[in-house]
Amino acid sequence: MTTPWGLPDFDAHEDIHFFTDEKSGLKAIIALHSTHLGPAAGGVRFWHYAKDEEALTDALRLSRGMSYKNAMAGLPLGGGKSVILANENRTKTPQMLHAFGKAVECLGGRYVTAEDVGINVADMIEVARSTKYVAGLPNSTGDVGGDPGPHTSLGVFLGLKAAVKRALGKDGLDGLHIALQGAGSVATGVALHACAEGAKLSIADVDQAKAQKLADTTNGKVVSADEILTLDADVLSPCALGAIFTEATIQELKVPVVAGGANNQLATPEDGERLHARGILYAPDYVINAGGIINVCTEYLGDGDASLVRQRIEGIPVRLEQIWAESAESGRDPAAVADAMAQRLIGR
Ligand code: NAD
Repeated sequence: MTTPWGLPDFDAHEDIHFFTDEKSGLKAIIALHSTHLGPAAGGVRFWHYAKDEEALTDALRLSRGMSYKNAMAGLPLGGGKSVILANENRTKTPQMLHAFGKAVECLGGRYVTAEDVGINVADMIEVARSTKYVAGLPNSTGDVGGDPGPHTSLGVFLGLKAAVKRALGKDGLDGLHIALQGAGSVATGVALHACAEGAKLSIADVDQAKAQKLADTTNGKVVSADEILTLDADVLSPCALGAIFTEATIQELKVPVVAGGANNQLATPEDGERLHARGILYAPDYVINAGGIINVCTEYLGDGDASLVRQRIEGIPVRLEQIWAESAESGRDPAAVADAMAQRLIGR
């Protein structure tokens, strides 16, 4: 959409803030897409951009994505995202993180930050020294909070089962063949859940040792990273990279179901249509992978315990069902249906 601001990725964002702090070298952008459902929540990315415009594009796109994700997860939160523009040496100092915390603080709670690419829990602890609007801190209560990975995995597993039920008419995964791309945090949890239900796993990771380790614990088979997307299987579960579905890769798929945790799986919106045209059931990524954000946000909101987190994660397959039902009725692809649903939820 072209806008009065001339920014192609501007989507009626409520506000966009630019911060500089000469002393610490901080250069940051905080984009608030929507606060319709609550404070705009989304992580802070620490990244070196070749051009400042690219940082703004990232902040605009990612903040809109968070509005959609939080709304579809049923959270009382809006969507926002921030980027810290790293220099070429990626210098990150506590002073810079404190300055970023002050920037967050001055928005008075309209924006809540957390970890994203390039920012770890230790960094978030520094940020939290100058603002209270932080989530994703270490779990001190032994209850809600801590590593979002296992929660993301649980949501992906439940969503994958719902997809199997819808596409293949099966209630469980016993004997089904799942092609898993990635053997990291999210993939590991998905593999363990699926293995416990009797699924057969083929696992690929660019790090062969990681794939082997996961295969050893789940009775799985290691396949090469080049092979995984073209495997003849019941389900493909992408749990590694984004932009893996393109016109070329979609033609080569030999699965009836795609359900995995990776962010931004579709290279373009047209690739959602292409999956649909091939009769492949797709679980929109930001809906199925919301388990982690559900955990982080329940920690931040302090509005419930582990059972509420579980209950909210169990809402993921329910939401997916709604999307697929609307898709079947309207003929539109599930990714487009999810976007439209999210827009309605945020009052757009
Ligand atoms: P991770 O870093 O633990 O694991 C990613 C794995 O993918 C690594 O083992 C890496 O070697 C592997 N990989 C990279 N390129 C690959 C390729 N071409 N083929 C096969 N494997 C490849 O990350 P993670 O936390 O498990 O996240 C996985 C995906 O899920 C990412 O897209 C992430 O954005 C998304 N996600 C994660 C969470 C979470 O809670 N961790 C939440 C939502 C979305």
